[in-house]
Amino acid sequence: MNTSQSILVPFSSSSQTAHVYLGIGASLGDRENNLREGLHLLERDANIRVERVSGLYRSPHMGLAPGDKTRFPFHLNAVAEISTTPKPIELLDRLLEAEEESGRVRSEKWGARTLDLDIVLWESLTLSSERLMIPHPGLSRRAFVVVPLLELNPRIAVPNGTRVSDFLGSLEADLRHLTRIRDVEWYTGQKIEAKLSAAE
Ligand code: ATP
Ligand code: CA
Ligand code: CA
Ligand code: CA
Repeated sequence: MNTSQSILVPFSSSSQTAHVYLGIGASLGDRENNLREGLHLLERDANIRVERVSGLYRSPHMGLAPGDKTRFPFHLNAVAEISTTPKPIELLDRLLEAEEESGRVRSEKWGARTLDLDIVLWESLTLSSERLMIPHPGLSRRAFVVVPLLELNPRIAVPNGTRVSDFLGSLEADLRHLTRIRDVEWYTGQKIEAKLSAAE
């Protein structure tokens, strides 16, 4: 019998290993738990290791109009640094699988979701295909990605050399609505009692 490599071969750092930043978000259900479970699902993959995770941030739904608060509840967001050996498109498939396992249903674009896992940066790689764009095209306009990413790596730059910290200048309005609600123990430590009101 052929033994399954994905189970028996331990993760090993090699020239094939890429350091990748993932943007993770949730706006439905037990958001904090969805994010934690989503990363645990990825961690269970022999070819993915979760290296570091940012604090947990709360942000309003993008482009929220008055009256939309019930349809589009607030998001919890974080950024995770992972080491991974699969190719970018294989990692994307793994992320979409994990989203499905969390119970995500895609009904409308940018709708509320239990779990969203995006590839934000993949070392110095630039990629633009129908299914996958790296860096993530929304990065420079999204305070909820820029801020946790800078928390993990304040000097990080995108492949064209622009510092991610340079994006902060144009994000002032959004920064006022972004709240860091938990330190990194939201992922590393035991669960802390949720203080968020379900009504918001
Ligand atoms: P946004 O991509 O603007 O944050 P979204 O995350 O809500 O929106 P989804 O419905 O989760 O969008 O994903 C739609 C598709 O986006 C995915 O099926 C995938 O093919 C594509 N995609 C392109 N680039 C990326 C990327 N860097 N990370 C994740 N998905 C990507
Ligand atoms: Ca693993
Ligand atoms: Ca997204
Ligand atoms: Ca996505």
